[in-house]
Amino acid sequence: MSIESTNFIRQIVARDIAAGKNDGRVVTRFPPEPNGYLHIGHAKSICLNFGIADSYGGACNLRFDDTNPEKENIEYADSIKRDVQWLGHEWRNLCYASGYFERLHGFAVELIEKGMAYVDSLTPEEIREHRGTLTEPGRESPFRDRGVGENLDLFARMRAGEFGDGEHSLRARIDMASGNINMRDPVIYRIRHASHWRSGDKWCIYPMYDFTQCLSDALEGVTHSLCTLEFEDHRPLYDWVLDNVDVPCHPQQIEFGRLNLNYTVMSKRLLNRLVQERYVAGWDDPRLPTISGLRRRGFTPASIRNFCERIGVTKSDGMVEMGVLEHAVREDLDNDAERRMGVLRPLKVIIDNYPANRIEELVARNHPKRPEFGERSIPFSREIYIERDDFMEDPPKKYFRLAPGREVRLRYGYYITCREVIKNEAGEVVELRCTYDPETKGGTSPDGRKVKGTMHWVCAENAVDAEVRVYDRLFQSANPTSENFLNQLNPHSLEVLRHCKLEPDLANAAIESRYQLERQGYFCIDADSDALHPVLNRTVTLRDSWAKQAA
Ligand code: ATP
Ligand code: MG
Repeated sequence: MSIESTNFIRQIVARDIAAGKNDGRVVTRFPPEPNGYLHIGHAKSICLNFGIADSYGGACNLRFDDTNPEKENIEYADSIKRDVQWLGHEWRNLCYASGYFERLHGFAVELIEKGMAYVDSLTPEEIREHRGTLTEPGRESPFRDRGVGENLDLFARMRAGEFGDGEHSLRARIDMASGNINMRDPVIYRIRHASHWRSGDKWCIYPMYDFTQCLSDALEGVTHSLCTLEFEDHRPLYDWVLDNVDVPCHPQQIEFGRLNLNYTVMSKRLLNRLVQERYVAGWDDPRLPTISGLRRRGFTPASIRNFCERIGVTKSDGMVEMGVLEHAVREDLDNDAERRMGVLRPLKVIIDNYPANRIEELVARNHPKRPEFGERSIPFSREIYIERDDFMEDPPKKYFRLAPGREVRLRYGYYITCREVIKNEAGEVVELRCTYDPETKGGTSPDGRKVKGTMHWVCAENAVDAEVRVYDRLFQSANPTSENFLNQLNPHSLEVLRHCKLEPDLANAAIESRYQLERQGYFCIDADSDALHPVLNRTVTLRDSWAKQAA
């Protein structure tokens, strides 16, 4: 068990345990609606709920809040299970709000029998018009005083399918003049003739979120029901329902601030549009802030957990810089990713004084700080590739890489000097002719001669041809809104580099394995790879490129 820093919710839980509340039990839940894939905001809630259960010897349930049949499906539910497990969490029970439909119906009948709920025959629009505003009280429905018998009969006929969508609804009978609009006789059941991914056509009335959430919590013995701040105004309703029906326990709802990240959108509704309208390649597109997108991008579970730990849990919504998320994965991969060499934009170099048929094996360490990661051999021969950016024909003063007449060090290899620049008809540099100094093997010169630049390279003969996908922010605007987000997409969010050259060791790298390509950043092997042709996603650069871009 790792020691998490404390936060106000942990303090409440610790206090409750000390006071013997709930007999010292701690039960939390993570209650996603299976109407999309999980995103990094959900990860915050997952880490909080599962983390608290872990720390205090409690349990956390995964509960599908599946009460909107039109929007939910099994693909989403499966992806949610996969993502929670990938993040490293285990639920105690796998639960479904739909699994409680019969009991929730029973609680609704109980409220009707107590005169605390009624069938309203206003249309949804009329109900909205009667609701009032923040400054004006609502108006009571003409159906508010229906007798218990009539309500029971109508509710039974709603369930039996005698009415169309929206013809009637069941409302809690609370207070149309309440200062809290959520307490103005909220609808707790509505008619929806729609097939449900689990209950099929068994039901045509479905309970509303506020009615479902609190009762599901109570039925599961949840002690602390953690949700985001927008539900603060719903807490009186949460408590009202639990106070007025016969439930086994009364969980405590505690609200915390949502995570928002800049340069992206997090609402499932907007993510869904990006996916359905094909602005991105799918829910796991590496540019999306979804868990599956981050995973495909190369994020580790630990990096996401560390990020959630670092941003903390407070009582206010915050905007977090994308750089904070990237820092978390950079830190993790710096420690754990093996190093390799790869050239993204290759430029051929011929070493004229190196024997034509010789290939020698040089030794490279897999990690500069972790000897236990071992060493590998990398081939060196007369023809190699270097990075196009590592050569300039007419370099400025502070440029220490290759230029005509200039000597540089090849990482793990020799010093080379550029003797000649070969161009094509268009005047573009297509090849360099160099010489090497055989005395400098391993990167030092016996005469103490110093070179300033050290460059990565790949042996041409057995280089692996690869595709590398380089990502930038998905949006141009730091805070895209639901109104403008489609106009704010960054047209350069994906750059595909073909014919990149990698050292041969990477030919058989496993899907999802992660490497640092020296001087280039961290990369992850994509599922689109095949045996002869790896595809890599750049997870993140070695330094914070976001800060640089902003400057
Ligand atoms: P979205 O608008 O993205 O669909 P949601 O709140 O409707 O989000 P749910 O599936 O209902 O999504 O969320 C499951 C849990 O995750 C809820 O407890 C919710 O409060 C929490 N959650 C969702 N988004 C965030 C976020 N950005 N930050 C923290 N917690 C979040
Ligand atoms: Mg939702």
